[in-house]
Amino acid sequence: MFSYQYRDPFGLDERGRAESRRHRGGVLGQLADGTIPTYRFGSTARENEFADRWSKPGGLWAHDLPEAPAHLVPACSCGWRGTPVPYDPEGGAYPDPEAPRLLWDAAGDSARTAWTAHAAAAISDTVPDALNLQLSQLADGLRHLAEEEPRAALAVLQTLQQTAATTKATALTTAREHHISPAALGQPFGGIRQHIHDLYRSMVCKLALALRA
Ligand SMILES: [Zn+2]
Repeated sequence: MFSYQYRDPFGLDERGRAESRRHRGGVLGQLADGTIPTYRFGSTARENEFADRWSKPGGLWAHDLPEAPAHLVPACSCGWRGTPVPYDPEGGAYPDPEAPRLLWDAAGDSARTAWTAHAAAAISDTVPDALNLQLSQLADGLRHLAEEEPRAALAVLQTLQQTAATTKATALTTAREHHISPAALGQPFGGIRQHIHDLYRSMVCKLALALRA
């Protein structure tokens, strides 16, 4: 089980908390044999986190171990695990673009960047471009169908309504699990609802005209 207790020097576990308490990031150490060491916490076993130090080579286990990890695994309290990043205790030096010095946490930094991308995607309200394109193509196709085959178009609209209802229920459940506030949900959900409503109304108008003709 993922531990929420440990805090690395970068305050990684604090990131994202304001928007989504479900997504707290961490970096786990993975040994050369592929295992992630655990430690006992009460009656549960928790995976051991590892903080790659920026000030010098090497890093620290949350619960001390003699062996350095072979990989660092980006992890999230929601259960997500990223691709393991190879870890060399003596490596990892890279220049700090903002200050003239060396940083030694390239592997840890990669793991944190992967988690940040995961957490951002989990709470994003940006509709992917590809999906916007599909929606617009679907609307065009449906308008055409409404003009040519109104009964078929009505059947599709019925299916769309059912899909919208079940998909919305799933999205709202997931949003609750992510602890996204109702206020944060209001804007995008209101927008999407209005969009679907407008789309539906224009279909119904066209259908009414087609049926009258
Ligand atoms: Zn997550």
